[in-house]
Amino acid sequence: MGSENQRAIVIGSSIAGLLTARVLSDRFASVTVIDTDKLPEKPENRRGVPQSAQPHVLFTKGYRILEELFPGIGDELSAAGALSIDWTREFHHFEKAGWNQNADVSSTIVSYTCSRPLIEWAIRRRMSSRIQFLEQHRVTGLLSESKHVNGVRMHSLAGDGLDELTADLVVDASGRRSQAPKWLESLGLTPPPETVVNPYLGYATCRYREPEGFTGDWKVMLISQQPPDATRLGYLAKIEGGEWIATLGGYGHDFPPTDEDGFLEFARSLPDPRFYEAIKHAERVSPIYAHRATNNRLRHYEKIQVPQGFVALGDAVCA
Ligand SMILES: Cc1cc2nc3c(=O)[nH]c(=O)nc-3n(C[C@H](O)[C@H](O)[C@H](O)COP(=O)(O)OP(=O)(O)OC[C@H]3O[C@@H](n4cnc5c(N)ncnc54)[C@H](O)[C@@H]3O)c2cc1C
Repeated sequence: MGSENQRAIVIGSSIAGLLTARVLSDRFASVTVIDTDKLPEKPENRRGVPQSAQPHVLFTKGYRILEELFPGIGDELSAAGALSIDWTREFHHFEKAGWNQNADVSSTIVSYTCSRPLIEWAIRRRMSSRIQFLEQHRVTGLLSESKHVNGVRMHSLAGDGLDELTADLVVDASGRRSQAPKWLESLGLTPPPETVVNPYLGYATCRYREPEGFTGDWKVMLISQQPPDATRLGYLAKIEGGEWIATLGGYGHDFPPTDEDGFLEFARSLPDPRFYEAIKHAERVSPIYAHRATNNRLRHYEKIQVPQGFVALGDAVCA
């Protein structure tokens, strides 16, 4: 490590920010991760990650990368209640042609099914002592010298924190609502152009307790939309705590309702009854959360001159 690599700042302590901090901690004497939220001690939804109540598939490639960075994290997820899944055998998928045929032998296409807050919590507790968290601080701008980014400006939400912090590298991992394009503009730099494609997709998600004696052989079930006519989808997954996470989605403004009757009726309208049959008598154990911030946004950082000392990644670039 050269003497120039003293401190890195990562804006955002969600999945992209945490993995970035882990990688940078091999190269920098200290890494400071800044987040607006007070980070929960247990796996919980949080304000800064409004999609955290929605279902998240931990894809096999992502899981393998997690194991490389945090050896044994799969066992830790499992100890916290996540269920291992062999996607070729235990993922049941309904498409236009009907239900996919599942494999009857084991494969290496495996990962875990659990809630998004559990994944984030499991990663966060593996952060080394070189990584410090600055919670309840909102980054409001970049510091620079001769067009070289060398720190951030902040607002302390608790009122008694820091206003500025300098660093050799600033990473923006603040998600789809990243303000970095504005921060670059205020330094006199060109912000990245954006491509936005909005499918007007809405989700509604809640959790159920798995009914006693349930014998279904799926761990994750997906009934896909069939464009252009069938706009609706249903996703049902077993997660930690003996619960299921159930999501309905609709494209093109066909938003699923968030009241109990409307939710069940929407589920009943899916092109196959298995989703509805599974949940219709199950006990709902959470509110029904809507999520409609689903436009696809690509910020073209490759088309601008990004200042030295600054990198953007994760949903801050492509969401
Ligand atoms: C409905 C839905 C379902 C999804 N399903 C999947 C899935 O199945 N599998 C999958 O891999 N992905 C899924 N995704 C995508 C996934 O949620 C995102 O790609 C991922 O969370 C992006 O992580 P991130 O760390 O880049 O940003 P985020 O998770 O958005 O986190 C940004 C962080 O930055 C903090 N922050 C923001 N602004 C500031 C600031 N100014 N100062 C300080 N901190 C700040 C926030 O508090 C937050 O902690 C889904 C997304 C949605 C919306």
